[in-house]
Amino acid sequence: MSSNQTYKDCHIHIIPLNKIKYEFRKVLLTKQSKNYEEICSSPSKLIEAMDNANLEKVAIMSYPSPETHGMGMDLVYFVIDYCSEYRDRLHPVGSIHPSMDIKEIVEHLERQYSELVALKLHPVHQHFKPNDYRSEERNMKSLEVVYEFASDNNLPILFHTGTSILPNARVKFGDPLYLDDVANDFPKLKIILAHGGRPFWMDKAFFIMRRFKNVWLDISGIPPKRLLDYFPRFEVIAERCIYGSDLPSPGVKGLKENLEEFLSLQIPEELKERIAIKNFDKVYRV
Ligand SMILES: [Zn+2]
Repeated sequence: MSSNQTYKDCHIHIIPLNKIKYEFRKVLLTKQSKNYEEICSSPSKLIEAMDNANLEKVAIMSYPSPETHGMGMDLVYFVIDYCSEYRDRLHPVGSIHPSMDIKEIVEHLERQYSELVALKLHPVHQHFKPNDYRSEERNMKSLEVVYEFASDNNLPILFHTGTSILPNARVKFGDPLYLDDVANDFPKLKIILAHGGRPFWMDKAFFIMRRFKNVWLDISGIPPKRLLDYFPRFEVIAERCIYGSDLPSPGVKGLKENLEEFLSLQIPEELKERIAIKNFDKVYRV
């Protein structure tokens, strides 16, 4: 690919670091923390880092989680606000908390959705199963409301799948198999499996991807050079994969380093172009 080619990162986090719980911040901030702190306090610093990494666009996650980082819906509105100055390059991903009552959920969805490229739900940090709306589970109608709203408004929902080592994360909720129900019951909903069930549910994520053509895989949080070990039959699902880094999760070296590692993989150039450029606009509501 030519040297002036630019790419897209579908999954990073920007957090007001002074507002999250101390224990959470401590695990989050690794060696690259100095630069990351600057980035979180100023969108222009992020733009600088993106230019340096040849990134044209990024999508920025947000979700309330009193259970882990300690913030509520204020994190969602912080991210929307953070993106506002560079709206052509910074794309907010919003959220709600499934434990909120339905009226509150609808109000928050209506307030944020016109700004968003997607919604994110984090079962491991919000302590629920994606299929908890079902009567044989917890009968949580709030989830049904969110899935219907997303389907009707062409908003994909990105679900964290796989583990998390952050304080009070409940890993059991990260099993991708719960999404089998969601994909069955909401056939119009575009579902994105973030992290592909890493590191021990990859086979389930692979199955769900093959079964439902409306399910996509965000490869963020998987060290790029291990991608083909985790997904030995990667070529079967590659067309529905999107590139992301998951900055600043522990183990992610940086926006540029992560992208370069992905681009050095031994897969066809045409696939890299789909995954790290074209699919972003195909999956997200841009
Ligand atoms: Zn993430």
